[in-house]
Amino acid sequence: MTVQCCVCHRVKVEDTWKYRAVEDPHEVSHAYCPTCLEASKKAMWEEISRRRTVMSSAT
Ligand SMILES: [Zn+2]
Repeated sequence: MTVQCCVCHRVKVEDTWKYRAVEDPHEVSHAYCPTCLEASKKAMWEEISRRRTVMSSAT
């Protein structure tokens, strides 16, 4: 089973993530590579804190 990052489309090769072609798209499972996982977590927290700021300023 090939694991491909759904954000940057790198493919997991052993313990590293590389830009390479996927041989069989049916055998690909999508996940986040560590870089994009961190980025998405950061974006999520920024979104939450932004909403909190909006909510607290609205009251
Ligand atoms: Zn990625």
